[in-house]
Amino acid sequence: MALHGGIDLGGTKIQAVVVDEDHSVLGSARRPTPTSGGPADVVKEMEVALRDAAKAAEVEPAALAGVGVGSPGVIGDGSVSGAGNLPGWEGTFAVAPTLEAALGCQVRVDNDVQVATDAEFKLGAGRIYSSLLGVFWGTGVGGGLILDGRAWTGLGGAGEIGHMVVKMGGARCTCGRVGCMEAYAGRAAMERHARKLQQEGRKTDLFKLMEQRERTRLTSGIWTRALDNGDEMATDIIDRAVRALGAGIASACNLLDVEGVIIGGGLGIRLGHPYAKRIAAEMLPHLFADSRPPHVHVAALGDLGGAIGAALLLERDREPAASG
Ligand SMILES: [Zn+2]
Repeated sequence: MALHGGIDLGGTKIQAVVVDEDHSVLGSARRPTPTSGGPADVVKEMEVALRDAAKAAEVEPAALAGVGVGSPGVIGDGSVSGAGNLPGWEGTFAVAPTLEAALGCQVRVDNDVQVATDAEFKLGAGRIYSSLLGVFWGTGVGGGLILDGRAWTGLGGAGEIGHMVVKMGGARCTCGRVGCMEAYAGRAAMERHARKLQQEGRKTDLFKLMEQRERTRLTSGIWTRALDNGDEMATDIIDRAVRALGAGIASACNLLDVEGVIIGGGLGIRLGHPYAKRIAAEMLPHLFADSRPPHVHVAALGDLGGAIGAALLLERDREPAASG
C-alpha cells in the first residue's frame, strides 16, 4: 500500500502527516516554525516534523511513495521564493531537492492555500460542489479557487483574496498597499491594531492573556479566550474583521458565483460555525445574487487540511494537469 507524506509550512507552525491511499492519517507531528535563521533551518524543521509523523505511522521516510509540501511564497520548480512570513526567506530556496536528499523520497511543492483548498474539494466540506472558494483566515487571509472542478491559479498569482480592496484609501496592509481585506481581518494586522488602540488608552486583556500563556503573539486561542471573556476591544476588532471578510468574500462571489465558500485557517477553524454564519450574514448586503447566496462552511479537515492536501500533490501526477 502506497503511503504519502504531507507537510504544511505555516508562519507559526509546521504540520506533517503520513496518510494511506484512503487519505486516513496514520501519523502526524507538529513543530513550531523557526523565528530566526534562514530557509535551511526551516527546511530542517520540516524534515524533523515529517520524520516524527513517519515514526508515528511506523514507516521509514524513504519507504514513502512521496512527500508533498504546501508552502507560502512563490513556488516554481520545487523552489520557494519570497516567503515573507518565514525567517530570512526573501530569496529563493530549493526546498524539494533539499528534502529529497534528506528524506530519500520524491518531494513536490505547491502553494499552501491551494493545496488546502484542493483537500477540502476532494475530501472535505467542498466535496458536494464543482466550484468553490477557500478562504483561510489566519496570520494573513489566503484564498484558493476551484472552478468547474479544477484548481484555478491564473498565471500563478490567483486566489489572493486577502488583497481584495474593501476600503479605498483604508488601512495599510502588510503587502504595502492600502484598504486590503487582510489589513482588517488578518491576525497580524488585528494584533497591530490592538496595540495601537491600547497605546491610545483603550482597555483590553489581550496582551495580559498573551503573557500568561507565554506567547509572543496574539494567537487564535488568545483571541477566542478574550472573546469568551467579553473583552470589548477584542470584540470590536473581530467584528470589524468579520465585516471586512463579508465585504471581500461577497465581492469575490459577485465575480465568480461559486457554489460554496469554505472558511479555514487558524482563526476560521478556531472560531468555527458561529463565525462562518456571521460572515455569511455580513456577505448578504454586498451580494448581487442575494436570493441564492453561496453556502458558507467551516473547513471540514480542520488543522490537518493543509498537510493532507499537500500529501494529495503526489496523486496529481496521475491526473491530467489541473493547475500550474
Ligand atoms: Zn494587501
